[in-house]
Amino acid sequence: MSITPGLSPSRANDFAQCPYLYRLRVIDRVPETPQRATSLGTLVHAVLERLFDMPAARRNTDAARGLVQPAWEDLVARSPDMAELVVDSVQRTQFFDDARSRLDTYFIVEDPTRLEPYGREVRLESSLAGGPAIRGVIDRIDKAPDGALRIIDYKSGKMPRPGYGAQADFQMKFYALLVERTEGVRPALMRLLYLRDGAVKELVPTEADVATAEAHVRSAWSAITTHAAAGTFPTSTSRLCGWCPFQSLCPEFGGTPPPLDPDAVERATGVRPHPSAVALA
Ligand code: SF4
Repeated sequence: MSITPGLSPSRANDFAQCPYLYRLRVIDRVPETPQRATSLGTLVHAVLERLFDMPAARRNTDAARGLVQPAWEDLVARSPDMAELVVDSVQRTQFFDDARSRLDTYFIVEDPTRLEPYGREVRLESSLAGGPAIRGVIDRIDKAPDGALRIIDYKSGKMPRPGYGAQADFQMKFYALLVERTEGVRPALMRLLYLRDGAVKELVPTEADVATAEAHVRSAWSAITTHAAAGTFPTSTSRLCGWCPFQSLCPEFGGTPPPLDPDAVERATGVRPHPSAVALA
């Protein structure tokens, strides 16, 4: 199945962090070993999605805790690599305890017995005129009786320290743009729920916020297609390299880049590298 070239907030953030990281993940589609933090987030999201399948009165902490194991077994059935994160009973207990701790925090932040989501795990896609597709999966959409939309995103980590929240701010503005384009109405409120510390980050998106997101996406896409045409996606080192799953392929860490496949570049970006382009990082 071909996918229209485009950006989600995560992939835009990948590119902003390091163009070569973006290349390996989006163009080369290098398989990634499941990371504990990412998988913990996936598990917590899966439980919270299932929680809302229950009648409202039964959505309590015990019910959520009881969903951890079946949700994990379903995830492992779909992605057997995830099982390697918990190879013994000690790791399994710690992993499940961490998930249950996030869920306990969720109940401090919200009361799910008072909510009936309009949508859960909602895949949205639109396209910018003359620009890329924009897409994303929204954890939850709530709709008020007057039609106002509230967009909820669960984070299994802590709220970023002051000065480190740029990605979260961009994500909220990006989703405001995406929802406005797909639903025809700008959300009344964006909320990020940080389930490690119970912090909540909110934005009441304005016309300027949506315009900022669109400008950011257009600028990132312009840079991506420029790199694609040149066949070069340079590395950009930062403190985040320590969490990068591609160090073994990164020349900054002694790795060798895989050859660049022009067909893969074209599939991912809509742009074919110039034949004279040198396929380096
Ligand atoms: S290790 Fe750093 S420089 Fe290398 S690909 Fe990852 S983010 Fe980029």
